[in-house]
Amino acid sequence: MSTIFGKIIRREIPATIVYEDDRALAFEDINPAAPFHVLVIPKQEIVNVGSLAEGDAALVGHLLRVCGKVAEEAGLSDFRVVTNSGEGAGQSVFHLHFHVLGGRALKWPPG
Ligand code: AMP
Repeated sequence: MSTIFGKIIRREIPATIVYEDDRALAFEDINPAAPFHVLVIPKQEIVNVGSLAEGDAALVGHLLRVCGKVAEEAGLSDFRVVTNSGEGAGQSVFHLHFHVLGGRALKWPPG
């Protein structure tokens, strides 16, 4: 089922896109939790990490590479990549996404 991120992929709603290729899209989070907060998503509709299939491995590797690339392009040497899988873990949009957070000190463990 399509989500708000599907609408961003199809350009039905606006987003500040920072990276795009044939498989991935990266855009600024509308409610940033850090000075740098970008979401990296697959164009393919995948719900979350819990729903990944073996055949998605190359795509997920690519998405993580895109996370590194957007952080590098922003000049960040230290950053965090987070993905919430399931409502109880804090997932609110059911289209796989990696949060790339940086630009401030990040505590561990997260809430
Ligand atoms: P999660 O809670 O892990 O599912 O993360 C969803 C993220 O999507 C949140 O950080 C939201 O702020 C962000 N978000 C929701 N709608 C939009 C939107 N239209 N454009 C950009 N980010 C959004």
